[in-house]
Amino acid sequence: MRRLLLPALVLGLAGLPLVASPYFITLMNYIGMSALAALGLVLLTGVGGLTSFGQAAFVGIGAYATAWFTTTQGGSPWLGLVLALVLSGAVAMVLGVATLRLGGHLLPLSTIAWGLAIFFFFGNSLALGGHNGISGIPPVALGPYPLSSSAAAYGLIWLSLGGVMWLCANLLGARQGRAIRALRGGAAMAESLGIDSFRIRLAVFVLSAVLAGLSGWLYAHVQRFVGPTAFDVGPGMEYLFMAMLGGAGQIGGAVLGAAVVTFAKDGLQDVLPYLVKQSGPIEVIVFAVLFILVLQRARGGLIPALRRLVPAATPPIPAEAELPRRRLPAPGAHLLTLAAVTKRFGGLVAVNGVSFTLHAGEILGLIGPNGAGKSTLFNLISGAARIDSGLVHFLDLDITGLPARRVAAQGIARSFQHVRLRPTMSLLENVMLGAHLRGGAGLIAGALRLDRAEERRIAGVAMAQLRRVGLAATPHAMAGSLPLGQQRVLEIARALAADPVLIMLDEPAAGLRHAEKQALATLLRTLRAEGVSILLVEHDMEFVMSVVDRAVVMEFGSVIAEGAPAAIRADAAVQRAYLGAAA
Ligand code: ADP
Ligand code: MG
Repeated sequence: MRRLLLPALVLGLAGLPLVASPYFITLMNYIGMSALAALGLVLLTGVGGLTSFGQAAFVGIGAYATAWFTTTQGGSPWLGLVLALVLSGAVAMVLGVATLRLGGHLLPLSTIAWGLAIFFFFGNSLALGGHNGISGIPPVALGPYPLSSSAAAYGLIWLSLGGVMWLCANLLGARQGRAIRALRGGAAMAESLGIDSFRIRLAVFVLSAVLAGLSGWLYAHVQRFVGPTAFDVGPGMEYLFMAMLGGAGQIGGAVLGAAVVTFAKDGLQDVLPYLVKQSGPIEVIVFAVLFILVLQRARGGLIPALRRLVPAATPPIPAEAELPRRRLPAPGAHLLTLAAVTKRFGGLVAVNGVSFTLHAGEILGLIGPNGAGKSTLFNLISGAARIDSGLVHFLDLDITGLPARRVAAQGIARSFQHVRLRPTMSLLENVMLGAHLRGGAGLIAGALRLDRAEERRIAGVAMAQLRRVGLAATPHAMAGSLPLGQQRVLEIARALAADPVLIMLDEPAAGLRHAEKQALATLLRTLRAEGVSILLVEHDMEFVMSVVDRAVVMEFGSVIAEGAPAAIRADAAVQRAYLGAAA
Protein backbone atom coordinates (compact mmCIF):
# COMPACT_ATOMS: atom_id res chain seq x y z
CA MET A 1 0.00 0.00 0.00
CA ARG A 2 2.81 2.35 0.86
CA ARG A 3 4.28 1.79 -2.59
CA LEU A 4 1.11 3.25 -4.16
CA LEU A 5 1.10 6.21 -1.81
CA LEU A 6 3.92 8.14 -3.45
CA PRO A 7 2.77 7.85 -7.11
CA ALA A 8 -0.76 8.79 -6.04
CA LEU A 9 0.57 11.82 -4.20
CA VAL A 10 2.68 12.93 -7.17
CA LEU A 11 -0.24 12.49 -9.58
CA GLY A 12 -2.52 14.45 -7.28
CA LEU A 13 -0.01 17.31 -6.98
CA ALA A 14 0.56 17.34 -10.76
CA GLY A 15 -3.16 17.60 -11.48
CA LEU A 16 -3.85 20.20 -8.81
CA PRO A 17 -3.62 23.33 -11.03
CA LEU A 18 -6.40 21.89 -13.22
CA VAL A 19 -8.90 21.76 -10.40
CA ALA A 20 -7.80 24.14 -7.65
CA SER A 21 -8.48 27.88 -7.44
CA PRO A 22 -5.59 30.30 -8.09
CA TYR A 23 -5.77 31.29 -4.42
CA PHE A 24 -5.22 27.70 -3.35
CA ILE A 25 -2.34 27.32 -5.82
CA THR A 26 -0.75 30.45 -4.36
CA LEU A 27 -0.99 28.89 -0.90
CA MET A 28 0.58 25.72 -2.28
CA ASN A 29 3.43 27.81 -3.67
CA TYR A 30 4.14 29.24 -0.22
CA ILE A 31 4.01 25.75 1.21
CA GLY A 32 6.53 24.49 -1.36
CA MET A 33 8.93 27.38 -0.79
CA SER A 34 8.69 27.10 3.01
CA ALA A 35 9.14 23.34 2.76
CA LEU A 36 12.49 23.82 1.03
CA ALA A 37 13.79 25.96 3.89
CA ALA A 38 12.25 23.60 6.45
CA LEU A 39 13.85 20.66 4.68
CA GLY A 40 17.24 22.24 5.36
CA LEU A 41 16.32 22.28 9.05
CA VAL A 42 15.09 18.69 8.93
CA LEU A 43 18.62 17.76 7.89
CA LEU A 44 20.41 20.18 10.20
CA THR A 45 18.27 20.01 13.31
CA GLY A 46 16.14 16.90 12.96
CA VAL A 47 18.83 14.60 11.65
CA GLY A 48 22.07 16.33 12.64
CA GLY A 49 20.93 17.64 16.01
CA LEU A 50 22.13 21.23 15.46
CA THR A 51 19.39 23.72 16.26
CA SER A 52 19.29 26.87 14.15
CA PHE A 53 16.94 29.84 14.49
CA GLY A 54 18.68 31.59 11.62
CA GLN A 55 17.34 29.70 8.62
CA ALA A 56 15.30 32.68 7.38
CA ALA A 57 18.53 34.67 7.07
CA PHE A 58 19.81 32.22 4.47
CA VAL A 59 16.47 32.37 2.64
CA GLY A 60 17.02 36.14 2.65
CA ILE A 61 20.55 35.84 1.30
CA GLY A 62 19.26 33.75 -1.62
CA ALA A 63 16.35 36.10 -2.23
CA TYR A 64 18.33 39.34 -1.97
CA ALA A 65 21.22 37.96 -4.05
CA THR A 66 19.02 37.22 -7.04
CA ALA A 67 16.83 40.31 -6.51
CA TRP A 68 19.85 42.61 -6.53
CA PHE A 69 21.48 40.78 -9.44
CA THR A 70 18.42 40.69 -11.71
CA THR A 71 17.19 44.23 -11.01
CA THR A 72 20.30 46.38 -10.63
CA GLN A 73 22.67 44.30 -12.80
CA GLY A 74 20.09 43.13 -15.33
CA GLY A 75 21.30 39.52 -14.89
CA SER A 76 19.32 36.46 -15.81
CA PRO A 77 17.38 34.76 -13.00
CA TRP A 78 19.18 31.52 -13.82
CA LEU A 79 22.53 33.16 -13.10
CA GLY A 80 20.79 34.65 -10.09
CA LEU A 81 20.12 31.07 -8.96
CA VAL A 82 23.81 30.24 -9.10
CA LEU A 83 24.60 33.42 -7.16
CA ALA A 84 21.89 32.67 -4.57
CA LEU A 85 23.14 29.13 -3.96
CA VAL A 86 26.83 30.04 -3.89
CA LEU A 87 26.35 33.05 -1.64
CA SER A 88 24.12 31.29 0.90
CA GLY A 89 26.54 28.36 0.94
CA ALA A 90 29.60 30.61 1.29
CA VAL A 91 28.10 32.65 4.15
CA ALA A 92 27.15 29.38 5.88
CA MET A 93 30.69 28.12 5.44
CA VAL A 94 32.14 31.20 7.16
CA LEU A 95 29.55 31.22 9.95
CA GLY A 96 29.91 27.47 10.36
CA VAL A 97 33.68 27.59 10.74
CA ALA A 98 33.24 30.35 13.32
CA THR A 99 30.42 28.81 15.37
CA LEU A 100 30.04 25.06 14.85
CA ARG A 101 32.65 24.20 17.46
CA LEU A 102 30.58 25.93 20.12
CA GLY A 103 29.08 23.39 22.47
CA GLY A 104 25.72 23.07 24.18
CA HIS A 105 23.35 26.02 24.02
CA LEU A 106 25.94 28.39 22.64
CA LEU A 107 25.41 27.23 19.07
CA PRO A 108 21.63 27.85 18.93
CA LEU A 109 22.22 31.19 20.67
CA SER A 110 24.78 32.14 18.08
CA THR A 111 22.28 31.40 15.30
CA ILE A 112 19.96 34.01 16.84
CA ALA A 113 22.83 36.49 16.89
CA TRP A 114 23.86 36.13 13.28
CA GLY A 115 20.25 35.68 12.18
CA LEU A 116 19.47 39.10 13.61
CA ALA A 117 22.67 40.60 12.22
CA ILE A 118 21.84 39.50 8.68
CA PHE A 119 18.25 40.72 9.07
CA PHE A 120 19.44 44.17 10.16
CA PHE A 121 21.92 44.21 7.31
CA PHE A 122 19.07 43.75 4.80
CA GLY A 123 17.02 46.50 6.41
CA ASN A 124 19.86 48.99 6.59
CA SER A 125 21.71 48.39 3.36
CA LEU A 126 20.89 51.13 0.86
CA ALA A 127 22.07 49.00 -2.06
CA LEU A 128 19.37 46.49 -1.07
CA GLY A 129 16.63 49.11 -0.77
CA GLY A 130 16.72 49.42 3.02
CA HIS A 131 13.34 48.88 4.68
CA ASN A 132 11.56 49.24 1.34
CA GLY A 133 13.32 46.22 -0.11
CA ILE A 134 13.66 45.53 -3.82
CA SER A 135 10.71 45.42 -6.21
CA GLY A 136 10.31 44.84 -9.93
CA ILE A 137 12.07 41.46 -9.84
CA PRO A 138 11.53 39.62 -13.16
CA PRO A 139 9.93 36.17 -13.19
CA VAL A 140 11.98 33.13 -14.03
CA ALA A 141 11.71 32.37 -17.76
CA LEU A 142 12.11 29.16 -19.72
CA GLY A 143 13.48 30.52 -22.98
CA PRO A 144 10.84 32.99 -24.21
CA TYR A 145 8.21 31.80 -21.71
CA PRO A 146 8.10 33.72 -18.42
CA LEU A 147 6.79 31.63 -15.53
CA SER A 148 4.72 34.48 -14.18
CA SER A 149 1.34 32.83 -13.53
CA SER A 150 0.82 31.17 -10.17
CA ALA A 151 0.31 27.82 -11.93
CA ALA A 152 3.66 28.13 -13.74
CA ALA A 153 5.36 29.09 -10.49
CA TYR A 154 3.66 26.09 -8.88
CA GLY A 155 5.31 23.80 -11.42
CA LEU A 156 8.73 25.35 -10.86
CA ILE A 157 8.47 25.26 -7.06
CA TRP A 158 7.13 21.74 -6.70
CA LEU A 159 9.45 20.24 -9.29
CA SER A 160 12.39 21.83 -7.45
CA LEU A 161 11.06 20.56 -4.14
CA GLY A 162 10.47 17.06 -5.48
CA GLY A 163 13.94 16.89 -6.97
CA VAL A 164 15.59 18.16 -3.81
CA MET A 165 13.62 15.74 -1.65
CA TRP A 166 14.76 12.87 -3.85
CA LEU A 167 18.39 13.97 -3.53
CA CYS A 168 18.11 14.37 0.24
CA ALA A 169 16.43 10.98 0.68
CA ASN A 170 19.24 9.36 -1.32
CA LEU A 171 21.84 11.18 0.70
CA LEU A 172 20.43 10.14 4.07
CA GLY A 173 20.53 6.51 3.01
CA ALA A 174 24.13 6.78 1.80
CA ARG A 175 27.54 6.76 3.44
CA GLN A 176 27.80 10.47 4.28
CA GLY A 177 24.13 10.55 5.24
CA ARG A 178 24.79 7.84 7.79
CA ALA A 179 27.63 9.99 9.10
CA ILE A 180 25.22 12.93 9.45
CA ARG A 181 22.79 10.66 11.28
CA ALA A 182 25.61 9.47 13.52
CA LEU A 183 26.22 13.02 14.80
CA ARG A 184 23.43 12.67 17.35
CA GLY A 185 25.34 9.79 18.91
CA GLY A 186 27.93 12.36 20.01
CA ALA A 187 31.27 13.34 18.56
CA ALA A 188 33.11 10.61 20.52
CA MET A 189 31.15 7.88 18.78
CA ALA A 190 31.42 9.41 15.31
CA GLU A 191 35.14 10.09 15.66
CA SER A 192 35.81 6.56 16.89
CA LEU A 193 34.42 5.36 13.55
CA GLY A 194 36.77 7.61 11.61
CA ILE A 195 34.16 10.27 10.90
CA ASP A 196 35.39 13.87 10.98
CA SER A 197 32.48 15.21 13.00
CA PHE A 198 33.34 18.87 12.47
CA ARG A 199 33.50 18.48 8.69
CA ILE A 200 30.21 16.60 8.63
CA ARG A 201 28.57 19.27 10.78
CA LEU A 202 29.90 21.94 8.47
CA ALA A 203 28.71 20.04 5.39
CA VAL A 204 25.18 19.64 6.69
CA PHE A 205 25.11 23.29 7.83
CA VAL A 206 26.14 24.47 4.36
CA LEU A 207 23.69 22.08 2.68
CA SER A 208 20.89 23.35 4.87
CA ALA A 209 21.76 26.95 3.97
CA VAL A 210 21.89 26.16 0.25
CA LEU A 211 18.36 24.71 0.46
CA ALA A 212 17.29 27.92 2.16
CA GLY A 213 19.03 29.87 -0.61
CA LEU A 214 17.05 27.96 -3.22
CA SER A 215 13.86 28.73 -1.33
CA GLY A 216 14.83 32.41 -1.30
CA TRP A 217 15.56 32.43 -5.03
CA LEU A 218 12.12 31.01 -5.76
CA TYR A 219 10.53 33.44 -3.32
CA ALA A 220 12.13 36.47 -4.98
CA HIS A 221 11.00 35.51 -8.47
CA VAL A 222 7.52 34.31 -7.49
CA GLN A 223 6.74 37.20 -5.15
CA ARG A 224 8.62 39.62 -7.49
CA PHE A 225 9.46 41.66 -4.39
CA VAL A 226 11.73 41.17 -1.39
CA GLY A 227 11.77 43.10 1.89
CA PRO A 228 13.62 42.44 5.13
CA THR A 229 10.70 41.38 7.37
CA ALA A 230 10.35 37.93 5.79
CA PHE A 231 13.89 37.06 6.87
CA ASP A 232 13.83 37.95 10.56
CA VAL A 233 14.46 35.46 13.37
CA GLY A 234 10.65 35.16 13.80
CA PRO A 235 10.21 33.50 10.40
CA GLY A 236 13.35 31.54 11.23
CA MET A 237 11.54 30.05 14.21
CA GLU A 238 8.56 29.32 12.02
CA TYR A 239 10.76 27.20 9.73
CA LEU A 240 12.05 25.39 12.78
CA PHE A 241 8.48 24.80 13.94
CA MET A 242 7.57 23.37 10.52
CA ALA A 243 10.53 21.01 10.60
CA MET A 244 9.71 19.81 14.12
CA LEU A 245 5.98 19.55 13.56
CA GLY A 246 6.37 17.34 10.51
CA GLY A 247 8.71 15.03 12.32
CA ALA A 248 12.29 15.57 13.34
CA GLY A 249 14.48 13.87 10.81
CA GLN A 250 11.74 13.03 8.29
CA ILE A 251 12.19 14.38 4.77
CA GLY A 252 8.43 14.34 4.11
CA GLY A 253 7.92 16.09 7.42
CA ALA A 254 9.18 19.35 5.94
CA VAL A 255 6.28 19.43 3.48
CA LEU A 256 3.70 18.30 6.00
CA GLY A 257 4.93 20.83 8.57
CA ALA A 258 4.97 23.63 6.00
CA ALA A 259 1.45 22.69 4.86
CA VAL A 260 -0.01 22.57 8.37
CA VAL A 261 1.56 25.88 9.39
CA THR A 262 0.62 27.66 6.15
CA PHE A 263 -2.99 26.45 6.16
CA ALA A 264 -3.30 27.15 9.88
CA LYS A 265 -2.04 30.71 9.41
CA ASP A 266 -4.40 31.22 6.51
CA GLY A 267 -7.31 29.81 8.49
CA LEU A 268 -6.47 31.89 11.55
CA GLN A 269 -6.46 35.05 9.47
CA ASP A 270 -10.04 34.25 8.46
CA VAL A 271 -11.28 33.24 11.86
CA LEU A 272 -9.47 35.51 14.32
CA PRO A 273 -11.08 38.80 13.28
CA TYR A 274 -14.43 37.35 14.42
CA LEU A 275 -12.99 36.41 17.79
CA VAL A 276 -10.81 39.40 18.63
CA LYS A 277 -10.33 42.85 17.23
CA GLN A 278 -6.57 42.81 16.84
CA SER A 279 -5.40 39.68 15.02
CA GLY A 280 -1.62 40.24 14.75
CA PRO A 281 -0.45 39.47 18.30
CA ILE A 282 -3.07 36.73 18.79
CA GLU A 283 -1.63 34.82 15.85
CA VAL A 284 1.76 34.82 17.52
CA ILE A 285 0.28 33.59 20.79
CA VAL A 286 -1.66 30.81 19.07
CA PHE A 287 1.55 29.65 17.44
CA ALA A 288 3.48 29.78 20.68
CA VAL A 289 0.83 27.59 22.30
CA LEU A 290 0.95 25.16 19.37
CA PHE A 291 4.74 25.05 19.58
CA ILE A 292 4.63 24.13 23.26
CA LEU A 293 1.94 21.51 22.64
CA VAL A 294 4.05 19.85 19.96
CA LEU A 295 7.10 19.87 22.23
CA GLN A 296 5.10 18.29 25.03
CA ARG A 297 2.84 15.86 23.22
CA ALA A 298 4.36 14.90 19.89
CA ARG A 299 8.07 15.47 19.93
CA GLY A 300 8.45 12.87 17.20
CA GLY A 301 6.21 14.94 14.91
CA LEU A 302 3.35 14.02 12.60
CA ILE A 303 5.10 11.77 10.09
CA PRO A 304 6.04 9.01 12.55
CA ALA A 305 2.44 9.07 13.82
CA LEU A 306 1.12 8.72 10.24
CA ARG A 307 3.64 5.95 9.55
CA ARG A 308 2.01 3.80 12.16
CA LEU A 309 -1.21 3.90 10.11
CA VAL A 310 0.41 2.52 6.97
CA PRO A 311 2.42 -0.64 7.63
CA ALA A 312 5.93 -0.52 6.18
CA ALA A 313 7.32 -3.02 3.72
CA THR A 314 10.54 -4.52 5.06
CA PRO A 315 13.48 -3.96 2.72
CA PRO A 316 15.24 -7.09 1.45
CA ILE A 317 18.16 -8.53 3.39
CA PRO A 318 21.40 -7.62 1.59
CA ALA A 319 23.65 -10.39 0.27
CA GLU A 320 26.84 -10.83 2.27
CA ALA A 321 29.94 -9.42 0.60
CA GLU A 322 33.57 -8.58 1.21
CA LEU A 323 35.68 -5.45 0.83
CA PRO A 324 39.48 -5.40 0.49
CA ARG A 325 41.06 -6.40 3.79
CA ARG A 326 43.99 -4.91 5.65
CA ARG A 327 47.21 -6.92 5.89
CA LEU A 328 47.56 -8.09 9.46
CA PRO A 329 50.99 -7.98 11.14
CA ALA A 330 52.84 -11.24 11.77
CA PRO A 331 51.78 -12.93 15.05
CA GLY A 332 53.99 -12.01 17.96
CA ALA A 333 55.09 -8.63 16.58
CA HIS A 334 54.91 -5.67 18.96
CA LEU A 335 51.53 -4.24 18.04
CA LEU A 336 50.63 -1.78 20.77
CA THR A 337 53.21 -0.43 23.17
CA LEU A 338 52.42 1.91 26.05
CA ALA A 339 55.25 3.70 27.85
CA ALA A 340 54.55 5.53 31.13
CA VAL A 341 51.10 6.67 30.01
CA THR A 342 49.60 9.12 32.50
CA LYS A 343 46.29 10.95 32.79
CA ARG A 344 45.15 13.29 35.55
CA PHE A 345 41.67 14.59 36.30
CA GLY A 346 42.41 17.55 38.53
CA GLY A 347 44.13 16.04 41.58
CA LEU A 348 43.22 12.46 40.67
CA VAL A 349 45.78 10.42 38.76
CA ALA A 350 43.40 8.14 36.86
CA VAL A 351 46.17 6.48 34.85
CA ASN A 352 49.59 6.53 36.44
CA GLY A 353 52.64 5.65 34.36
CA VAL A 354 51.15 2.58 32.69
CA SER A 355 53.48 0.57 30.44
CA PHE A 356 52.78 -2.71 28.67
CA THR A 357 53.01 -4.31 25.26
CA LEU A 358 50.32 -6.11 23.33
CA HIS A 359 51.58 -8.59 20.75
CA ALA A 360 49.93 -9.18 17.41
CA GLY A 361 47.46 -12.06 17.47
CA GLU A 362 47.02 -12.01 21.22
CA ILE A 363 44.05 -11.46 23.51
CA LEU A 364 45.26 -9.26 26.32
CA GLY A 365 42.98 -8.77 29.31
CA LEU A 366 42.97 -5.45 31.15
CA ILE A 367 41.44 -6.03 34.54
CA GLY A 368 41.18 -4.38 37.90
CA PRO A 369 38.58 -3.11 40.36
CA ASN A 370 36.10 -0.37 39.49
CA GLY A 371 37.77 3.00 39.11
CA ALA A 372 41.18 1.46 38.40
CA GLY A 373 41.49 3.54 35.23
CA LYS A 374 40.79 0.92 32.56
CA SER A 375 38.21 2.90 30.57
CA THR A 376 40.33 6.02 30.84
CA LEU A 377 43.28 4.09 29.44
CA PHE A 378 41.05 2.93 26.55
CA ASN A 379 40.22 6.54 25.81
CA LEU A 380 43.88 7.52 25.87
CA ILE A 381 44.84 4.77 23.42
CA SER A 382 41.92 5.42 21.08
CA GLY A 383 42.39 9.19 21.10
CA ALA A 384 39.05 9.89 22.76
CA ALA A 385 40.83 11.61 25.66
CA ARG A 386 44.05 13.62 25.73
CA ILE A 387 47.10 12.01 27.21
CA ASP A 388 49.06 14.06 29.80
CA SER A 389 52.38 12.28 29.39
CA GLY A 390 53.81 9.05 28.08
CA LEU A 391 53.86 7.43 24.66
CA VAL A 392 51.58 5.13 22.69
CA HIS A 393 53.03 3.28 19.72
CA PHE A 394 50.99 1.26 17.28
CA LEU A 395 53.10 -0.87 14.96
CA ASP A 396 55.78 1.55 13.81
CA LEU A 397 53.73 4.64 14.39
CA ASP A 398 53.66 7.06 17.31
CA ILE A 399 49.92 7.58 17.83
CA THR A 400 50.26 9.58 21.06
CA GLY A 401 47.79 12.47 20.93
CA LEU A 402 46.38 11.63 17.49
CA PRO A 403 42.69 12.51 17.16
CA ALA A 404 40.36 9.50 17.49
CA ARG A 405 39.45 9.39 13.80
CA ARG A 406 43.12 9.12 12.84
CA VAL A 407 43.67 6.35 15.37
CA ALA A 408 40.65 4.55 13.91
CA ALA A 409 42.15 4.91 10.44
CA GLN A 410 45.24 3.02 11.63
CA GLY A 411 43.08 -0.03 12.29
CA ILE A 412 42.10 0.32 15.94
CA ALA A 413 38.38 -0.23 16.53
CA ARG A 414 36.70 0.00 19.90
CA SER A 415 33.49 -0.48 21.81
CA PHE A 416 32.32 1.70 24.68
CA GLN A 417 31.57 0.80 28.28
CA HIS A 418 28.41 2.89 28.00
CA VAL A 419 26.97 1.69 24.71
CA ARG A 420 27.12 4.28 21.94
CA LEU A 421 24.82 3.26 19.14
CA ARG A 422 22.19 5.10 17.17
CA PRO A 423 19.03 3.56 18.63
CA THR A 424 16.85 4.88 15.78
CA MET A 425 19.05 3.41 13.06
CA SER A 426 18.76 -0.25 12.10
CA LEU A 427 21.21 -2.92 13.25
CA LEU A 428 22.48 -3.06 9.68
CA GLU A 429 23.02 0.69 9.41
CA ASN A 430 24.78 0.83 12.76
CA VAL A 431 27.21 -1.81 11.58
CA MET A 432 27.59 -0.09 8.19
CA LEU A 433 28.73 2.98 10.13
CA GLY A 434 31.63 0.86 11.32
CA ALA A 435 32.77 0.41 7.72
CA HIS A 436 32.75 4.17 7.09
CA LEU A 437 36.48 4.32 6.39
CA ARG A 438 36.31 1.42 3.97
CA GLY A 439 34.14 3.39 1.56
CA GLY A 440 34.82 6.66 -0.19
CA ALA A 441 31.51 7.95 -1.58
CA GLY A 442 30.98 11.66 -0.97
CA LEU A 443 27.84 13.73 -0.46
CA ILE A 444 27.21 14.26 -4.16
CA ALA A 445 27.78 10.63 -5.16
CA GLY A 446 25.36 9.62 -2.42
CA ALA A 447 22.70 12.15 -3.41
CA LEU A 448 22.89 11.08 -7.07
CA ARG A 449 23.01 7.35 -6.26
CA LEU A 450 26.38 6.93 -7.95
CA ASP A 451 27.51 4.94 -4.92
CA ARG A 452 25.27 1.90 -5.33
CA ALA A 453 28.01 -0.67 -5.98
CA GLU A 454 30.03 0.49 -2.97
CA GLU A 455 26.92 0.68 -0.81
CA ARG A 456 25.99 -2.90 -1.69
CA ARG A 457 29.41 -4.06 -0.62
CA ILE A 458 29.32 -2.08 2.63
CA ALA A 459 25.87 -3.49 3.40
CA GLY A 460 27.18 -6.96 2.55
CA VAL A 461 30.14 -6.58 4.88
CA ALA A 462 27.84 -5.34 7.65
CA MET A 463 25.52 -8.27 7.06
CA ALA A 464 28.43 -10.70 7.34
CA GLN A 465 29.47 -9.18 10.67
CA LEU A 466 25.91 -9.30 11.98
CA ARG A 467 25.81 -12.99 11.19
CA ARG A 468 29.14 -13.47 12.89
CA VAL A 469 27.88 -12.07 16.18
CA GLY A 470 24.53 -13.83 15.90
CA LEU A 471 22.33 -10.81 15.08
CA ALA A 472 21.60 -11.54 11.42
CA ALA A 473 17.98 -12.58 11.96
CA THR A 474 16.58 -9.02 12.11
CA PRO A 475 19.01 -6.67 10.33
CA HIS A 476 16.35 -4.00 9.81
CA ALA A 477 15.22 -3.85 13.43
CA MET A 478 16.12 -0.66 15.28
CA ALA A 479 19.24 -0.92 17.42
CA GLY A 480 17.33 0.61 20.33
CA SER A 481 14.97 -2.36 20.39
CA LEU A 482 17.75 -4.76 21.44
CA PRO A 483 18.34 -5.64 25.10
CA LEU A 484 21.39 -3.83 26.48
CA GLY A 485 23.60 -6.91 26.43
CA GLN A 486 22.88 -7.45 22.74
CA GLN A 487 23.57 -3.78 22.05
CA ARG A 488 27.10 -4.40 23.29
CA VAL A 489 27.35 -7.31 20.88
CA LEU A 490 26.13 -5.02 18.09
CA GLU A 491 28.95 -2.63 18.97
CA ILE A 492 31.38 -5.50 18.47
CA ALA A 493 29.92 -6.15 15.00
CA ARG A 494 30.31 -2.44 14.24
CA ALA A 495 33.94 -2.57 15.35
CA LEU A 496 34.55 -5.68 13.23
CA ALA A 497 33.08 -3.99 10.15
CA ALA A 498 36.07 -1.62 10.26
CA ASP A 499 38.37 -4.55 9.47
CA PRO A 500 40.50 -3.74 12.53
CA VAL A 501 44.03 -4.86 13.33
CA LEU A 502 43.31 -4.32 17.01
CA ILE A 503 39.91 -4.37 18.62
CA MET A 504 39.41 -2.89 22.09
CA LEU A 505 36.33 -4.04 23.98
CA ASP A 506 35.23 -2.34 27.20
CA GLU A 507 33.16 -4.80 29.25
CA PRO A 508 31.55 -6.58 26.29
CA ALA A 509 30.08 -9.38 28.40
CA ALA A 510 28.18 -7.11 30.82
CA GLY A 511 24.48 -7.95 30.67
CA LEU A 512 24.95 -11.17 28.71
CA ARG A 513 23.48 -14.50 29.80
CA HIS A 514 25.75 -17.49 30.33
CA ALA A 515 25.20 -19.01 26.88
CA GLU A 516 25.70 -15.60 25.25
CA LYS A 517 28.98 -15.18 27.11
CA GLN A 518 30.14 -18.52 25.80
CA ALA A 519 29.22 -17.49 22.26
CA LEU A 520 31.18 -14.27 22.78
CA ALA A 521 34.20 -16.21 24.03
CA THR A 522 34.03 -18.41 20.93
CA LEU A 523 33.85 -15.34 18.70
CA LEU A 524 36.91 -13.79 20.40
CA ARG A 525 38.88 -17.01 19.94
CA THR A 526 37.86 -17.16 16.26
CA LEU A 527 39.03 -13.60 15.77
CA ARG A 528 42.34 -14.41 17.39
CA ALA A 529 42.71 -17.41 15.09
CA GLU A 530 42.18 -15.05 12.16
CA GLY A 531 45.02 -12.86 13.39
CA VAL A 532 43.01 -10.03 14.94
CA SER A 533 44.44 -8.73 18.22
CA ILE A 534 42.16 -7.95 21.13
CA LEU A 535 42.44 -5.74 24.20
CA LEU A 536 39.68 -6.78 26.58
CA VAL A 537 38.38 -5.03 29.67
CA GLU A 538 36.00 -7.26 31.55
CA HIS A 539 34.68 -7.72 35.07
CA ASP A 540 33.63 -11.35 34.84
CA MET A 541 36.85 -13.04 36.03
CA GLU A 542 35.88 -16.49 34.90
CA PHE A 543 35.11 -15.18 31.42
CA VAL A 544 38.33 -13.14 31.15
CA MET A 545 40.56 -15.89 32.40
CA SER A 546 39.02 -18.38 29.97
CA VAL A 547 39.80 -16.34 26.86
CA VAL A 548 42.88 -14.18 27.43
CA ASP A 549 46.48 -15.16 26.72
CA ARG A 550 47.79 -12.68 29.25
CA ALA A 551 46.34 -10.09 31.53
CA VAL A 552 47.44 -6.71 32.87
CA VAL A 553 46.00 -5.83 36.27
CA MET A 554 45.45 -2.20 37.26
CA GLU A 555 44.64 -0.66 40.61
CA PHE A 556 44.37 3.06 41.36
CA GLY A 557 45.74 3.90 37.92
CA SER A 558 48.86 1.75 38.17
CA VAL A 559 49.77 -1.68 36.85
CA ILE A 560 50.14 -4.08 39.78
CA ALA A 561 50.62 -7.35 37.91
CA GLU A 562 51.02 -8.74 34.43
CA GLY A 563 51.19 -12.30 33.13
CA ALA A 564 49.37 -15.48 32.15
CA PRO A 565 45.96 -16.20 33.77
CA ALA A 566 47.31 -18.83 36.21
CA ALA A 567 50.03 -16.50 37.47
CA ILE A 568 47.57 -13.62 37.83
CA ARG A 569 45.20 -15.77 39.87
CA ALA A 570 48.01 -16.74 42.21
CA ASP A 571 49.37 -13.18 42.57
CA ALA A 572 49.10 -11.88 46.12
CA ALA A 573 48.75 -8.21 45.13
CA VAL A 574 45.93 -9.05 42.72
CA GLN A 575 44.08 -11.03 45.38
CA ARG A 576 44.45 -8.12 47.81
CA ALA A 577 43.16 -5.65 45.21
CA TYR A 578 40.08 -7.72 44.48
CA LEU A 579 39.38 -8.60 48.10
CA GLY A 580 39.85 -4.96 48.99
CA ALA A 581 37.40 -3.96 46.32
CA ALA A 582 34.86 -6.52 47.52
CA ALA A 583 35.18 -5.44 51.13
P1 ADP B 1 37.49 1.82 35.29
O1 ADP B 1 37.11 1.78 33.87
O2 ADP B 1 38.72 1.02 35.59
O3 ADP B 1 36.37 1.42 36.21
P2 ADP B 1 37.74 4.65 34.88
O4 ADP B 1 38.83 4.76 33.89
O5 ADP B 1 36.36 4.79 34.39
O6 ADP B 1 37.89 3.30 35.70
O7 ADP B 1 37.97 5.72 36.02
C1 ADP B 1 39.21 5.89 36.69
C2 ADP B 1 39.10 7.04 37.64
O8 ADP B 1 39.04 8.27 36.93
C3 ADP B 1 37.86 6.99 38.50
O9 ADP B 1 38.20 7.44 39.78
C4 ADP B 1 36.93 7.95 37.83
O10 ADP B 1 36.05 8.52 38.76
C5 ADP B 1 37.89 8.98 37.25
N1 ADP B 1 37.39 9.59 36.02
C6 ADP B 1 37.13 8.94 34.87
N2 ADP B 1 36.74 9.79 33.91
C7 ADP B 1 36.77 11.03 34.49
C8 ADP B 1 36.48 12.34 34.01
N3 ADP B 1 36.09 12.57 32.74
N4 ADP B 1 36.61 13.37 34.88
C9 ADP B 1 37.01 13.16 36.14
N5 ADP B 1 37.30 11.96 36.64
C10 ADP B 1 37.18 10.89 35.83
MG1 MG C 1 35.36 1.28 32.97
